[in-house]
Amino acid sequence: MTDTSHSALPMRTDMCGELSANDVGRRVSLCGWVGRRREHGEHLAFVDLRDRTGYVQCVVDGAHDLRSEYVIRVTGTVRHRPEGTVNPNLSTGEIEVGDCEVEILSVAEPPPFPVDERIDTDETIRLRHRYVDLRRDRMQRNLRLRARVNSAIRRAMEEQDFVEIETPMLIASTPEGARDFVVPARLKPGSFYALPQSPQLFKQLCMVGGIDRYYQLARCLRDEDLRADRQFEFIQLDAEASFASQDDVLAFITHAVSAAVEAATGDTVSDIPRMTWLEAQERFGSDKPDVRFGMELVELTEVFAATGFNAFKAPCVKGIRVPGAADTTRNQLDALTDTAKRYGAKGLVWMKVEEGGTISSPVAKFLSEPELSGIAEALEAKAGDLLLLVADERDAVRHVLGLLRLELGRPPVNEGGFQFLWIVDFPLFEGLDESGSPIPAHHAFTMPHVDDMHLLDSTSGDDLLAVRSQSYDLVVNGWELGSGSVRIHRGDVQSKIFGLLGITPDEAQVKFGFLLDAFRYGAPPHAGFAFGIDRLVAILAGEENIREVIAFPKTQSGADPLTNAPTPLEPEQLAELGLRTLPPKA
Ligand code: ASP
Repeated sequence: MTDTSHSALPMRTDMCGELSANDVGRRVSLCGWVGRRREHGEHLAFVDLRDRTGYVQCVVDGAHDLRSEYVIRVTGTVRHRPEGTVNPNLSTGEIEVGDCEVEILSVAEPPPFPVDERIDTDETIRLRHRYVDLRRDRMQRNLRLRARVNSAIRRAMEEQDFVEIETPMLIASTPEGARDFVVPARLKPGSFYALPQSPQLFKQLCMVGGIDRYYQLARCLRDEDLRADRQFEFIQLDAEASFASQDDVLAFITHAVSAAVEAATGDTVSDIPRMTWLEAQERFGSDKPDVRFGMELVELTEVFAATGFNAFKAPCVKGIRVPGAADTTRNQLDALTDTAKRYGAKGLVWMKVEEGGTISSPVAKFLSEPELSGIAEALEAKAGDLLLLVADERDAVRHVLGLLRLELGRPPVNEGGFQFLWIVDFPLFEGLDESGSPIPAHHAFTMPHVDDMHLLDSTSGDDLLAVRSQSYDLVVNGWELGSGSVRIHRGDVQSKIFGLLGITPDEAQVKFGFLLDAFRYGAPPHAGFAFGIDRLVAILAGEENIREVIAFPKTQSGADPLTNAPTPLEPEQLAELGLRTLPPKA
């Protein structure tokens, strides 16, 4: 007869959450943490044993002092639960493990918060004891989802002949435009490395180096204020390809995104629609439109071309229709007007569509009949709708209505599926600085649109601002996932752009001389892209906050409550680095 006692079996024969009625009669050995317990008198306890796969109920006889989160090994026999005690909410709810021998592998202090998810816990406490938090179902699910997504992305890139190359973490500053994290150089006191904001320059060097197709799940560091969708350090799928056009890059990345979505949900993304930056701004007032819902911005400038109403004598008038919101109260409308003003509007005009189609509004008396019917027609207004109108410079109108649209209509992150969108034809410059020099919208190596090259020679600011670039963003459900561009690989075009940006040849040489030097030795045309894995996984996991898909994130104030980072250095360590700290600013 085989010995099926505790000592004869392997440490673990099965996973708790994977046992089922098919295992009835088997002697199994399970390891995990003690979840909920119900004592029945002194000598019988029902213990929910938990491992990474889930829970199974163990019926333990005899006096064992088993407490929450003790780590135990149980050897027992799988059996059907008695009639009437089957738990349909548990994957293992049909069975239990009886006739148990129990070994305590580790005792545990009472956990700082229950591992049971039903109890909400303050985030700082969760992060301080992240090792306990990680045991919870939500974090287990999210981190495993993340691992599947990473692996699918790697596979997708490799299927397309991309080579994974690791670029250095200690570098000279990259021109991505955010603040660098810096690391003092012990061997060269007074000098610093920067941590990479992205591998941008290195991936371009890889192209000059004949790698042809590069990718990396790259750790990027940017010293920017943290938000729900931003951490100091984040991971991007970073990619670059030689002899590739914008269309090629979009296809490569679409394949990777589709693989990620499939790994997470089982569905694929066959095609990602494109929208120009201009159309996105005009229709949604944003360069990262959330197209899961309507309420698009509707052009009304023409309707008021000859208006006598001063507030609408503006370069641009647009409106949005909030379906069925005519019952919005006066107080709510006042609050909405304040919000619009906070977003930069001079004012907000509201109108309610009555039964029969009449428009009621405090400003209706200043508008002509054709104007009122023009509004109703353009906005396709129906009885019961609320209409919101803003008049101002075109940029301001788009901005304010774009934000109001989100405020009034945006569905929660996990509703409406995943609406991916490529935004293309971004402007090359996002504005002019005080000296009239254009400010790059992406980075200084972005190739201008071929049709707009001639405008680079113009002296007019408007012409420069009209130059489109060969850059593109990937957006999903109103989140910017990432961006990329076709790069400038020709010295003459690069010099022209540096000239426009007010970067002298000397400055260019100091900042990115090594890239410019490399380009002198035969640079292939190349293009690339990077998108944030944290954001993508958060969306796929239905989480609003990327911290929920990162094992050890920082809080909003950049601190790590678990390790207490950042911490001061010992005086000896500072001395070795040739550093002295100033007292904190008052
Ligand atoms: N380096 C850019 C970024 O991190 C992406 C790219 O242009 O490839 O946003």
